[in-house]
Amino acid sequence: MTVEAVSEAALPYESSLTRPPEAPISDLAVLLRTLEFAALKHRDQRRKGNHQAPYINHPIEVAALLATVGGVTDVATLQAALLHDTVEDTATTADELSQAFGPEVMSLVLEMTDDMSMPSAARKRHQIERAPGLTPKAKLIKIADKIANVGDIARHPPPDWTIDRQRKYFEWTAAVVDCCRGVNGALEARYDEVLRQAREIVGEGKGEGGRGKGEGAS
Ligand code: ZN
Repeated sequence: MTVEAVSEAALPYESSLTRPPEAPISDLAVLLRTLEFAALKHRDQRRKGNHQAPYINHPIEVAALLATVGGVTDVATLQAALLHDTVEDTATTADELSQAFGPEVMSLVLEMTDDMSMPSAARKRHQIERAPGLTPKAKLIKIADKIANVGDIARHPPPDWTIDRQRKYFEWTAAVVDCCRGVNGALEARYDEVLRQAREIVGEGKGEGGRGKGEGAS
């Protein structure tokens, strides 16, 4: 049995990913292979929101926001959007990404990867501190990521998140996005609108409970 046959037997549906294409492939084919890779990596994960969506919906949304709202056509940026949580949230390594998709995509994903060994508060602070120094492509992905997350949390808050925790999360994303501005007016305007809606759903004030007219609005 060849090495390839062994790996195919062990991972039957990863076979198309382990074999490099013989001829150059189209941008669309590259994106679909990237999506297939990300879907396999996140296949057992769900979003923590109360609708328990498959995790892969999130990177798909981030890439779709870049392409449709931001007008982004750069393939490496869209690939990195699809892969942006693979190193942080799955067993994927930087080497694996570099081999499958090249060094640019790998380094963009690493720019999006938090150090999960840090405590949550320090990690959040570090993300704000790191944001101004991100490359323009990583800033685009970061803004789209925050649009998707704020929309998700506002519409489908995780069951154990209080209104106050949601408010604090929204304000933290605003601080991160403020450090990424100047790269794409349409994406930044979409973020502002999604944040405005999220604040409306949870209410701005203290102690009155929030979550009024926006409830159920998905
Ligand atoms: Zn994300």
